[in-house]
Amino acid sequence: MNRGIGAWVTKRAFLQGDYTAFVAGERTFTYADADRRTDQLASALAGLGVRRGDRVAALMVNSVEFLETLLACAKLGAIMVPINVRLAAVEVGFILGDSGADVLVFSGQFTDIVRGALTEPGVRVRHAVQVGEGGYERGPSYDELLASASPDFAAADVAGTDTAMLMYTSGTTGRPKGAMLTHDNLLWNAINVLGTEHPLSSRDVTVTVAPMFHIGGLGVHSLPLLYVGGTNVILPNFDPVGTLTAMAEHRATVQFMVPAMWVAITQVPNFGSYDLSSLELAMGGGAPCPLPMIEFLNERGVPFIEGFGMTETAPLVSILDSAHARSKAGSIGRVAMHVEARIVDDDDRDVPTNTVGELVLRGPNIFAGYWMRPEATAEAFRNGWFHTGDLGRMDEEGYITLVDRKKDMIISGGENVYPIEVEQVLFKHPKVADAAVVGGPDPRWGERVVAVVVPDPGAGPDPGSEELVTWCRERLAHFKCPREVHFVDALPRNATGKLLKTVLREKYAGVTDGV
Ligand code: AMP
Repeated sequence: MNRGIGAWVTKRAFLQGDYTAFVAGERTFTYADADRRTDQLASALAGLGVRRGDRVAALMVNSVEFLETLLACAKLGAIMVPINVRLAAVEVGFILGDSGADVLVFSGQFTDIVRGALTEPGVRVRHAVQVGEGGYERGPSYDELLASASPDFAAADVAGTDTAMLMYTSGTTGRPKGAMLTHDNLLWNAINVLGTEHPLSSRDVTVTVAPMFHIGGLGVHSLPLLYVGGTNVILPNFDPVGTLTAMAEHRATVQFMVPAMWVAITQVPNFGSYDLSSLELAMGGGAPCPLPMIEFLNERGVPFIEGFGMTETAPLVSILDSAHARSKAGSIGRVAMHVEARIVDDDDRDVPTNTVGELVLRGPNIFAGYWMRPEATAEAFRNGWFHTGDLGRMDEEGYITLVDRKKDMIISGGENVYPIEVEQVLFKHPKVADAAVVGGPDPRWGERVVAVVVPDPGAGPDPGSEELVTWCRERLAHFKCPREVHFVDALPRNATGKLLKTVLREKYAGVTDGV
C-alpha cells in the first residue's frame, strides 16, 4: 500500500473532492484541486529530473505552494527540505549543500538570499523555481512549471519508512543537522494530534500562521487537517490583527501558534471585538506558555492546551490538557497516545518519581536519524531511546515538568538559537579574543540573546557593540543576533576551563533562578 502523505490528498479528493483544502487570500482550492495540482507539480518536477529519494529544498513563506511542493515530492517519493526563511544566505547555502538538493523552490521575495546562497561552496542546485514576483530570471517560474506539466502522472509506491522531509535543526555541534522525518512519522503524529481533547475532523478549520518551515506550523494542524480533510487558511506572515481577523472571518475551530504569537494576539487592544466563538481549541507550544496568557483566553471562553514537541518527534510529544492548565501550571503535560517517555540519569537508568533527569522518548513519530550524521544519530538514540536534551521530572500522574535544557539553547519568539553558532561567528571577528552567548528573560520574545565578549587587546581599538551586531547580522539570521553585548576582561571559567554560563546568565542576562 502507498504509505506516502501524498496519498492522503488523493484519498480525500476521492472521498470528498469538493471540500475546501486551502484558502489563501482570494484563492480557494478544493481537495480535488489540490490533488490535481500536486499531480501536475510532481510530473513537472519529474521532468526536471527529480527522482525518488532526491531532495527538493523549499525557502518559502506559508503558502499553498509550500504544501503543494511537499505533497508533490511525496507523490514522487522525493524528499522536501524546508528552510527557515529568516536565515542568512550563507546559512541557506549550507543547508542546500548539506542536503544535496537538486531543486530549490522559493518565494520571490527571497531572490537576493537565493542568489547569494547558490554561490556558496558545495551547493549543486540545478533548478531554482520562483513562486510569485521576485526578479529571478534563471529558470521556470512555479506557474510556468505547473502549466507545462503533463497531466499523466502515476504516484510512486512510497513506503512508510521512506523519508518525507529533512528538517534542519541545530545541535550543540553548532551546524544544523537534517532530521529525517518519514511518511510514517508524519502519519503517527497526525494520529497523536487527533487523539488530544479535540479530535480533528473534516469540519475543522485552522489559520496556518506559525511558519510551515518549522515542524510546529506544519505538524500540529496543517498536516493532520490534510489527513482528515479539514481546511487550512494560509497566512504568509504573522501579524496579530491580521491573524485575529482571519480567525474570525474563516470561523477557525482549532489554532496552533507559538507562545510569542499568542501573547501578541492577546495584547491586541480590542481583542474582544473579534468573533472567536467558533474557536474550540487554542494550542501553544515550542516554548513555555505563560499562565496569564492562558488565563486571558480561558476567561474569554477559549480552552487552551499546551503542547511540547520537537522537530525530531514530528513534533507532538505531550499535552497539558485544558482542565489542568492551572493545577499543573508549568508542566508540559502527559505524553500523547503513541509516545512513551522516561526520565533517566546519565547512565540511562530510570530516576524515581519527581526526580530530575533527561527526558527520553520512544514512538512511531520519532525521526529516523540525522541525514548523513551516523555519529549524531547514534548519540541521540542511545539504548534505543531518543534523548531529547531536555531535563525534567515526572510526577505520580505522569505529568512532566521541564526544569532546564541539557542542550545549550535559547528560545526567542519560538525560534531556537544555539549559542555555539553565534559564538563561532563572534570568534571569527578579528577584534574578539573570547565570547560567550547566553539567554535572558524577555517579556515579548520569551528569551533574548545576550553576548559577553572579551576584546582582543592586540587588535587595536575595541569593537563597539554595533560593529559586532552588524558582523553577526551579515552572517546569521537576525533572530540569532545578540540584542545586547557586554564587554569583559575575561570570561568566568571553572578550574578545568569550562565556561560558567550560569554565572554569565545571572550577571549579564538577568536570570535569577539559575536556569
Ligand atoms: P524544535 O526542534 O525547534 O521544535 O525545538 C524543540 C525544543 O523546544 C524542545 O526540545 C524544548 O526544549 C523546547 N520546547 C518545545 N515545546 C516546549 C514547551 N511547551 N515548553 C518548554 N519548552 C518547549
